[in-house]
Amino acid sequence: VQKSTTLSGVNSTSADRPGRRERVINLDHGDPTMYEGYWRQMGEKTTITIPGWQSLSYISDMTNVCWFLVPEFAEEVVRLHQVVGNAVTEDRHIVVGTGSSQLILAALYALSSPDAAEPISVVSAAPYYSSYPSMVDYQKSRLYKWAGDAESFNKDGPYIELVTSPNNPDGLLRRSVVNRSQGLLIHDLAYYWPQYTPITSPSDHDLSLFTVSKSTGHAGMRIGWALVKDRKVAEKMTRFIELNTIGVSKDSQLRAAKVLKAVSDGCQQGESSFFKHSYKLMAGRWKLLRATVEYGGLFSLPQFCPSFCTFFGQETEPQPAFLWLRCEGEIEDCEGFLRKHKIISRGGKHFGGSPKLTRISMLDTQETFLDFIERLSNIQQIK
Ligand code: PMP
Repeated sequence: VQKSTTLSGVNSTSADRPGRRERVINLDHGDPTMYEGYWRQMGEKTTITIPGWQSLSYISDMTNVCWFLVPEFAEEVVRLHQVVGNAVTEDRHIVVGTGSSQLILAALYALSSPDAAEPISVVSAAPYYSSYPSMVDYQKSRLYKWAGDAESFNKDGPYIELVTSPNNPDGLLRRSVVNRSQGLLIHDLAYYWPQYTPITSPSDHDLSLFTVSKSTGHAGMRIGWALVKDRKVAEKMTRFIELNTIGVSKDSQLRAAKVLKAVSDGCQQGESSFFKHSYKLMAGRWKLLRATVEYGGLFSLPQFCPSFCTFFGQETEPQPAFLWLRCEGEIEDCEGFLRKHKIISRGGKHFGGSPKLTRISMLDTQETFLDFIERLSNIQQIK
């Protein structure tokens, strides 16, 4: 691990880099820089040229519920879901957003009622995505309010449950847990892609959210999409985005269309499949991580069950975008413990969970990942 490591044919000899041992390894955010190498290799396949006269109008297609949705992008969304088999797109409205973050807010707006006597409760099962509580409450809306862990939610009446599957931070598959008739569900499926989890069946929910940030790694493009069954909900989500940003960058949608097209083409042609490549990369990382942690006894990792993946046509194991690391023994603050060793992670408390756990991104560059593995290995030797 220390001298030179081979992962999926990528040689990284990091031993001689100056300052390597002292550097701060920041794996707090899920920044998907891991994918840069693949897209560099793809070269011109995803390059687009946008002439100056293009994208002048706010409008894309007035006949569509989501009037700012660029048709080429919508087509590629439908095609990609068909190729991957991870979502039903028939009888769904597509609403595009500036990342799925904007769509979470649009969905909260669309599912709440301005005439309700009190704000509708928004819950999610802990450990939940750390941004949910602040996203829900930062504007102190009178429409909705954060009500915490879905597992302990017992208030009568309507509520909104955010269901994240696979879950951020722990990578587990999720279903709604409140399970009452007046629940409105938002399925956040940012990680329901074959490099992270076996695709077992096409998701078929009332409202699902996806994003290029985690599927192809283009977080900076700021494009997400919602698949919405109910026309009224899609209209209200569109209205929210109209009030918020009068639509979504057409340039970004065109670029996203080109990237999604390259992914679908690659899958259908076989050899250079993006998902095959990224699955191998993630598999290599998880294998190295398990080998590093398992002999030490200081930390423990979650265990996952393999399932048949309809996309790869074989059994695959979950290999989440985040490591949900547990400190064993007397260490109560896993984030703080790692920080002393100059590893920045996000502690369990941010996710409504225990401080004995901390979240670490698995999507950073190869160099940072290998430095992290080496640091982890050294910590265990010191102990
Ligand atoms: N949902 C989940 C579960 C996420 O992990 C993230 C990104 N970390 C998002 C939504 C937001 O993604 P974006 O706005 O980049 O699409």
